[in-house]
Amino acid sequence: MYDTQPTASHFIDGAYVEDTAGAVIDVIYPATGAVIAQVHAATPAIVEQAVASAQAAQCAWAAMPGLERGQVLRRAAEMIRVRNRDLSVLETWDTGKPLQETLVADAASGADALDYFGGLAGDLTGAHIPLGADFAYTIREALGVCVGIGAWNYPTQIACWKAAPALACGNAMVFKPSETTPLCALKIAEILVEAGLPKGCFNVVQGLGDVGGALVSDPRVAKVSLTGSVPTGRRVNAAAAADLKHVTMELGGKSPLIIFDDADLEDAVGGAMMGNMYSAGQVCSNGTRVFVQRGIRDAFLARFAERAAQIRLGDPMDEAVQMGPLVSAAQMEKVLGYIETARAEGARLICGGARVDTPGVFVEPTVFADVTDGMTIAQEEVFGPVMAVLDFDDEDEVIARANATDFGLAAGVFTRDLTRAHRVIRQLEAGTCWINTYNLTPAGMPFGGFKASGLGRENAAAAIEHYTKTKSVYVAMGPVDAPY
Ligand code: NDP
Repeated sequence: MYDTQPTASHFIDGAYVEDTAGAVIDVIYPATGAVIAQVHAATPAIVEQAVASAQAAQCAWAAMPGLERGQVLRRAAEMIRVRNRDLSVLETWDTGKPLQETLVADAASGADALDYFGGLAGDLTGAHIPLGADFAYTIREALGVCVGIGAWNYPTQIACWKAAPALACGNAMVFKPSETTPLCALKIAEILVEAGLPKGCFNVVQGLGDVGGALVSDPRVAKVSLTGSVPTGRRVNAAAAADLKHVTMELGGKSPLIIFDDADLEDAVGGAMMGNMYSAGQVCSNGTRVFVQRGIRDAFLARFAERAAQIRLGDPMDEAVQMGPLVSAAQMEKVLGYIETARAEGARLICGGARVDTPGVFVEPTVFADVTDGMTIAQEEVFGPVMAVLDFDDEDEVIARANATDFGLAAGVFTRDLTRAHRVIRQLEAGTCWINTYNLTPAGMPFGGFKASGLGRENAAAAIEHYTKTKSVYVAMGPVDAPY
């Protein structure tokens, strides 16, 4: 592939590790179908090695001054930025997302998280609580060994978004990438060690759900952070609950994007494109139920179709290309299935709707209008470049319809009436919201879902709560007043 690709399947205790006894996982470049690498799933011996090494490393890492832990993370952030192009090329090999995107979105976002939490690491203070003559104070302590489990859509970013707060707080982490995109997290582990992270603090093991399951149920593990689908989230949360482990669950969504008829049309179209077409639509927070107020519906659809027709599909390594393939043949089949169902259920196809005739697994940017709330395409997560447009008439109606789902990851509102924007956002059942933009996720803003879309938050100081436990210390300043 290229000379800086990972050199073995796993990264444990500061070094690449191979164990060919594990099942072979082919890494397929979805733009061509070529097998670009092979990794081996972790055997029980590899899982044991990874957890034991994390456990052995964690106490000394937690005992280091936070400022020094932070320096390691910030050095890693800098190294990621310097190597952005190599890491972006690897992300493109792993996922098929266009280099035009990966150069600005993936390693860059990972570096931001490492910088952000590197900065916070020196400031993980507790509280001082005055109690008359006595007082109490609290200490934030690391949880111990944390497990991170990633989805396939943002392999570099997910590894960094989990590693950065975990390590800043003095935890060690064992990370399992999705078996569809196993390569990027290995490079992050390699860079962290080069930046000075003690060996064992961030280990990566490959495998499918069974390897994830073995990590989740390991009694030495204190916390599990999963990015994945709702069904997997329910399973992993249940398994973690058996041992009362801490969890962060970043799960799927079917998020509403509400466009009022006073919105700036060009911005609204741009927001809907970012919320449906970026990464070929494979983004959990996408605004895939686009509610457009009837007054601008036709103008919106016409302009969207015009701009969608200009999206350049093709070789993801060509920096002029704006949309690559889906991540895998299986994902493409799933998306094409949803397109067929939408047609059969009476949605009106505005543009796209077919596979692109190439060896890769490309699907055209697709828009359906006249979508109604009960249609499958308005209920289930498609995870492809497929936008569903629903009509609405008034504010109360659209809020009720937007909330009528078990998901609650994200939501967006486009309007020039800012009073209305804030009023509507307050009533939407979603953890991450945008006004007059969509899908921006800076490191300083908490990210996560309500309802079935998740538990806990990633990014921002909010994540610190989810990677530490609070110890309360009562300090008596006088004699003990015992009634016996
Ligand atoms: P999956 O839920 O299928 O898998 C997520 C991860 O969990 C994978 O690494 C998977 O391994 C692993 N896994 C599967 N079963 C178990 C188990 N029983 N115990 C432990 N680990 C297990 O999601 P996808 O990879 O298909 O990703 C797409 C989904 O992720 C979408 O639904 C999307 O909405 C969601 N997502 C959510 C985000 C968020 O932040 N809220 C961000 C990005 C995606 P393997 O696949 O290798 O078998």
